Amino acid sequence: MENYTFDQYQEWVGQLCRTPVEGSIMGLAGEAGEVVDLLKKILYHGKLLDREKLKLELGDVLWYVADVARQYGIPLSEVRDGNVAKLTERFPKGHFTPEDSAARADEKPIMYGNRLVTHPAQKLAIEAFKREADDGCGPDEMPSYKSLQQ
Ligand SMILES: [Mg+2]
Repeated sequence: MENYTFDQYQEWVGQLCRTPVEGSIMGLAGEAGEVVDLLKKILYHGKLLDREKLKLELGDVLWYVADVARQYGIPLSEVRDGNVAKLTERFPKGHFTPEDSAARADEKPIMYGNRLVTHPAQKLAIEAFKREADDGCGPDEMPSYKSLQQ
């Protein structure tokens, strides 16, 4: 398992996971809640950070992120790369500033053909669609929600 790429890790998750996508989405929320619970214990129960427990819970979050993306046909590397692209656009100076955070440059509308695209997810979807079109793989080959249930 050491030195697995994001996509190899995701493939391994897919070999082990038999949870329907809605169950994995609930699992993701539940595991994120376990991370929040660690913070609660620090803030209100006087506990110290349990780094090992945090690492395990973040791993559980990563597991469900990988599985939800897998079940929707999204390579985990694309999740990572999309996040990097979004935040690189949002923080052009290469570090956080409150001004850049408030400006949300990545959420500014762009023109796509004659359409004004405003939502960052739409912008990412257009980029992915263009890549798939270049690879000869169109949206018809994307798995539907129903096909993922079987
Ligand atoms: Mg857990």
